[in-house]
Amino acid sequence: MMSTAALDIIFLESHEAALRALLHRENGSEAAAYVLFGKAEIAADPWSKQPRIRLISHEVVPITSDEMVSSSSVHVTWSTQGFMRLLGLAQHRNLVPALVHTHPGAGAFFSDQDDRNEAELARTTFNKGAQGLASMVFGQHDAIVGRLWKSAKASTKASSISIVGSKIKIWRADAGREDTEFLARQAALFGKGFNPIVRALRVGVIGCGGTGSAVVSLLTRLGVGHLALMDNDTIDTTNLNRVHGSRAADVPAKLAKVDILAREIEAGGLGTQVVTRRAWVGDPSLRDVLRSCDVLFGCTDDNQGRLTLNRLAHYYGIPLIDVGLRMRSAKSGVDYDMTGRVTTIRPGNPCLICLGVVNAQRAAAEGLQRNDPAEFERRKAEAYVEGGGDPAPAVVTFTTSIACAAVDELIQGLTGFRGQGGMTHNRIRRFDRVEDRSMTCRPIPTCPVCGTEDTWGRGDVNPFLGVIG
Ligand SMILES: [Zn+2]
Ligand SMILES: [Zn+2]
Repeated sequence: MMSTAALDIIFLESHEAALRALLHRENGSEAAAYVLFGKAEIAADPWSKQPRIRLISHEVVPITSDEMVSSSSVHVTWSTQGFMRLLGLAQHRNLVPALVHTHPGAGAFFSDQDDRNEAELARTTFNKGAQGLASMVFGQHDAIVGRLWKSAKASTKASSISIVGSKIKIWRADAGREDTEFLARQAALFGKGFNPIVRALRVGVIGCGGTGSAVVSLLTRLGVGHLALMDNDTIDTTNLNRVHGSRAADVPAKLAKVDILAREIEAGGLGTQVVTRRAWVGDPSLRDVLRSCDVLFGCTDDNQGRLTLNRLAHYYGIPLIDVGLRMRSAKSGVDYDMTGRVTTIRPGNPCLICLGVVNAQRAAAEGLQRNDPAEFERRKAEAYVEGGGDPAPAVVTFTTSIACAAVDELIQGLTGFRGQGGMTHNRIRRFDRVEDRSMTCRPIPTCPVCGTEDTWGRGDVNPFLGVIG
């Protein structure tokens, strides 16, 4: 039996803005444009265990004025020549073609006329051998509806539509029926609309050590309804100074960090649906989990893992809030260096490579250590590779403080409490001074991840994330 996959539609902020500008008519008549979407085919959503499809906007394709046939406040028609061209492009690049039209001064819904017109276009689409046709209606007050035609007769309505950029806006078909009395005090600050949004939110946390455990604890109290915890490690004695929820008895029991955090969430009884994966972020078994999230927190100090997340944020339009700490002890003549960093990565921002956050040599060494430990040890002995040295210093107040700053960025993305500028791209906190700064950079034009829009919303490609090996 074939079950119907849930459908999410993600617009990148710049694509949505381009569409709105393109489709605006001073005279209030309808307008239309095409979009090519990347697709994520998720076999099993980790929370529902059901298949899920995500469409992520990749490119806006205008309908030229010579293709327009007629339009009024209640209809728009255009020649299908451009549509045939779009189908060709979509098939060639393995993208999903989509049609967007407006209902100025009316709601976002599919009219009977839309149903008939789109069924016709869907027939053309499937006759040409394409895999699907998406369509969206932009109504008044920024309302959007969307659906995916899987044949000329059947379509699935989107259960969530989001706009991802410096802000995160998500509309869900089935949000907001849960009792969230324990969140009343934050509704008092952000309004009644805030709690249903966090309740429906799906957040992945990669790395469940000092910062990750604090992030998880904060997200649970914030009321985030769906958490996915990913970490390969078990707890050791030197983690007990900072991993929230860990107990001394967990060390001899050799408990996994993800299981410790899940235990604490369950014990809290706040209704969070938590899933755990004991694996490294690059492990193929995590792909469905990662691609099912609305937001990711990068709390790993693993360079190769960061490179994976950096790409994932671009390919799938999932904002990544990456957290890092650098702690160096004072030596004679040298002061402390105690720096925390929170970086928001998404299409349109300079990436972790451009910021110099990821060390490519270390990433390579980590890959070797994971795949061929004997060879890694041999090269380390000969001083050919870095890493595997003394563990970095860590103190609970600093790991927890930077975790708070990271979760604040999520709240800023959802509410704009700090103003309309959205999430800060790169925030640097110097604990050894009284200093909190926003420091951004320019993207490197040749950067393979953020230097080109080819990666934006590209979705599934083979190999995964365009990375060989
Ligand atoms: Zn319509
Ligand atoms: Zn870059």
